[in-house]
Amino acid sequence: MSTFKAPKGTYDLTPPDSAKYLAVREALSAPLKNSGYGYIETPGFEDVALFSRGVGESTDIVSKEMYTLTTKGGSELALRPEGTASVLRAALEANLHKLGNLPVKLWYSGSYYRYERPQKGRYRHFSQVGAEAIGAEDPALDAELIILADQAYRTLGLQNFRILLNSLGDKECRPVYRDALQEFLRELDLDDDTRRRIDLNPLRVLDDKRPEVQKQLVGAPVLRDYLCDACKAYHEEVRDLLTAAGVVYEDDEKLVRGLDYYTRTTFEFVHDGLGSQSAVGGGGRYDGLSEMIGGPALPSVGWALGVDRTVLALEAEGIELELPSATSVFAVPLGEEARRVLFAKVTELRRVGVAADFAFGGRGLKGAMKSANRSGARFTVVAGERDLAEGVVQLKDMESGEQQAVALDALVAEVQQKLA
Ligand code: AMP
Repeated sequence: MSTFKAPKGTYDLTPPDSAKYLAVREALSAPLKNSGYGYIETPGFEDVALFSRGVGESTDIVSKEMYTLTTKGGSELALRPEGTASVLRAALEANLHKLGNLPVKLWYSGSYYRYERPQKGRYRHFSQVGAEAIGAEDPALDAELIILADQAYRTLGLQNFRILLNSLGDKECRPVYRDALQEFLRELDLDDDTRRRIDLNPLRVLDDKRPEVQKQLVGAPVLRDYLCDACKAYHEEVRDLLTAAGVVYEDDEKLVRGLDYYTRTTFEFVHDGLGSQSAVGGGGRYDGLSEMIGGPALPSVGWALGVDRTVLALEAEGIELELPSATSVFAVPLGEEARRVLFAKVTELRRVGVAADFAFGGRGLKGAMKSANRSGARFTVVAGERDLAEGVVQLKDMESGEQQAVALDALVAEVQQKLA
């Protein structure tokens, strides 16, 4: 161990477990790549105002959890706490919304940073795969994204997750509801912090998990009763499309999510095996965000799925992903000449696309065979002086235990044929 450790609330991904994370990232993004979403990558940090304006000053993410810094040049930056604002900023900057047909569909994968109280499933550095569909108001787009996330989780084998769905209304009907809710909340017996929240972000008060608050919320006005006809029709269409696709969801009137920019459709994927940090993914429509950050009106919808929590969900369900072995052939030379000959063969195998590795470090046969076993290779190639004198190597099938002498010149073709 060195003097240093990974910072609090973070952890390292190391082999062999890291392979599982890669596979999860791949599985979460595969349905997007197959559905017209193009890959986008943005910097790990942004102008802090992008998040304070976009995500919202009153949210925990911005007010408590952002890693902010002032550069030597005096710029105020923040490590990105989420993906949507950055992706929209980048799409506007590149004029993607003017180049082709709308919507602009994008997917991304990366690291995010929140200064949260660490616990299982909640880290200060975590990883998400996300998708944004920018510039179209179409319930089919909302439905598409929910269906694709559902598909991603299912291809991983997950079953014990639920989809929670709600509509937050739009700029017409939400303010009316907000007023009614504020009026109701102001009559309650609440602490100062929560009182301040009534002014800033009253919907978040509904999210308060404390029993003494929940008890008082019985009879609070519900947003559904305030939705305007356009929002109602939109939401019905999303629900119908999901049902037609065979995707099961639950209506959850309390689902408000922690970011200010959401309008209309919001949804969350929760996994029942994860305890308190049960959200494995979430998203929604953000029709006003573009204008909030100085762009044109671009109604959009998106989601972000947590890679870390998806891995935890797999563990909770006891699912072992079938990961192909990283190495197909492992070469074990016995002696100096064999070392040169087999190293050349390993290079040749790699050049034709066979995953191959080599017993480095000149350890004895026993240690080298241990490495071969640990590599998970299907075949080992062993050669000593006597083999080379006869122009052969010993090719061992690690599954069947069978071993045969193969002419050195025929080795690459033989291995390719056996692996095919
Ligand atoms: P959010 O934007 O907060 O809805 O985050 C989307 C997803 O990212 C969540 O559903 C989680 O799976 C994941 N996530 C968010 N914050 C954290 C965190 N601090 N640690 C691990 N995963 C997180």
